[in-house]
Amino acid sequence: MSGTILKVSGPLVVASGMSDANVADIVRVGEQRLVGEILNMTGDRASIQVYEETSGIGPGAKVEPMGLPLSVELGPGMLENIYDGIQRPLPEMKAISGDTISRGMDVPALNREKLWDFVPVAGIGDKVVAGDVLGTVQETSAISHKIMVPKGVSGEVVKIEQGEHVVSDVIAVVKDEKGTEHELTMIQRWPVRIPRPYSQKFTPSRPMNSGQRIIDTLFPIAKGGTAAVPGPFGSGKTVVQHQLAKWSDVDIVVYIGCGERGNEMTDVLMEFPELKDPRNGEPLMKRTVLIANTSDMPVAAREASIYTGITIAEYFRDMGYDVAVLADSTSRWAEALREMSGRLEEMPGEEGYPAYLASRIAQFYERAGVVECLGSDHRKGSVTAIGAVSPPGGDLSEPVAQATMRIVKVFWSLDSSLAYARHFPAINWLNSYSLYVDTLAPWYNEQFGEKYMENRTQTMRILQIEEELQEIVRLVGVDALSHDERLLLETAKSIREDFLMQNAFMDEDAYSSYAKQFRLLDCILNYDNLGREALEKGADMNKLFKIPVREKLGYAKLADPEKFEEEYDIINEEMKAQIAAVLEGGSEND
Ligand code: ADP
Repeated sequence: MSGTILKVSGPLVVASGMSDANVADIVRVGEQRLVGEILNMTGDRASIQVYEETSGIGPGAKVEPMGLPLSVELGPGMLENIYDGIQRPLPEMKAISGDTISRGMDVPALNREKLWDFVPVAGIGDKVVAGDVLGTVQETSAISHKIMVPKGVSGEVVKIEQGEHVVSDVIAVVKDEKGTEHELTMIQRWPVRIPRPYSQKFTPSRPMNSGQRIIDTLFPIAKGGTAAVPGPFGSGKTVVQHQLAKWSDVDIVVYIGCGERGNEMTDVLMEFPELKDPRNGEPLMKRTVLIANTSDMPVAAREASIYTGITIAEYFRDMGYDVAVLADSTSRWAEALREMSGRLEEMPGEEGYPAYLASRIAQFYERAGVVECLGSDHRKGSVTAIGAVSPPGGDLSEPVAQATMRIVKVFWSLDSSLAYARHFPAINWLNSYSLYVDTLAPWYNEQFGEKYMENRTQTMRILQIEEELQEIVRLVGVDALSHDERLLLETAKSIREDFLMQNAFMDEDAYSSYAKQFRLLDCILNYDNLGREALEKGADMNKLFKIPVREKLGYAKLADPEKFEEEYDIINEEMKAQIAAVLEGGSEND
């Protein structure tokens, strides 16, 4: 039974005669068969969010309920692909209709013609449960795609087909206890708004290595954790996200782009496929799924894209992979939510956002985590969720930033004044935080000894005191400070310039291993420790600040990743010798 349109208001369509349909069901609207989703129902009236331009659609036109919720197709063919917010493959649609995608187009998310070499893992007679791996497909050179028993199916494998298949071929048959035979293909479907199931969730206990010094050492994120990157335009959000996509030690990256202007998204579509995976020189796309809201789709599609992205991420997690979801930006997504809420004439909350803004943001981030996957082999996988927030004017007190801050555990706050001063990454060390420091400390202690975290604590303390001292300097000048305090300012400067600043575009600097980060920071703090002892013994402060090794420290971050240890040993030795020479030279302090 189809319904009839009563009213159209932008992306919102209200239709009557919809008593057969349910909230969250997908519908096809009008002759063009535009894709829509039911947001709410009153009696037989449905309010529908339409994911395509509604011009030309008017009252009287038909609405056909499809009887299922907004879902994604999961299976081989997602990696390297670029989807829109409702998982339509953009390259294929472009190939069919040219640059402007025609409306109501029906292209399956997974290519139905491509052959995949299915290699069974399970054998005939095996007892399997949901989540068990039936076999694998080498999806790209980087990733082996595990074909799993879908939820709701268990029993005995009675047939399994090795060899080349398209995704919709039956590759296995599982006979359940009642004797019913389930024909399984390489495609699973899953409703995007419902988290995919797992056996057990764990507290994240290992860091996600990003190779970015300020992140790994000062504000680490756990694998399976949540983080937000707020920052005004031009502060480096995109560069941070690209760095994370490139360097994070995860297997798969799902990048969700909700650009404000069409050209922002075009940038992503142009740039991302160009990025190289630094680990093997291959295109990063080999382990990436890109979701892009192009400018010719209305805002409503952005709303769905976040869920489409995280569902795809969960599916790869279920194979036992570590997955990172990068959403850029959740502010644009929240604006889509606000627009729909306005059209639905809901009671507006703060700044016009709906009252459920915070719970929707929470629902997204809550899908991150480290889990034991379904299936009998107890494999573990993780989804790490990182969202950029672009508050208007960089104002962190606005509702999206506030709601995000309440839910995420890591906050890398980008600062326009740092970006202006060309201090990149422009993550402000004073108002950023990571609530994982305590849970990750045992891991750092075990890997590198307790010194790593001790150095971190000392660094944070120095940076905080620097801020207070700078205030005094601004008011009464540097002469008001003690020699110890002057030394602290020197060390802080060195921490900022020689450690925290990291150039994403310089090969030697773009990535720092933990060991390199640790040793580099240790050298800098060594200067502070030795310098302080020397001052106590009456060393000349000005000479101490000018010892030549400090210049070397400035380039130390560019040290060869294979040979940095020797180089840092030399720096430490020279530092000791030069500070000793200052002491011998006597004091001109007074
Ligand atoms: P946003 O996405 O916040 O608008 P971008 O990520 O595009 O900002 O960054 C703006 C510019 O800042 C970049 O084009 C680049 O020149 C510079 N930049 C940002 N981060 C870095 C970095 N880590 N190293 C070097 N330059 C950077």
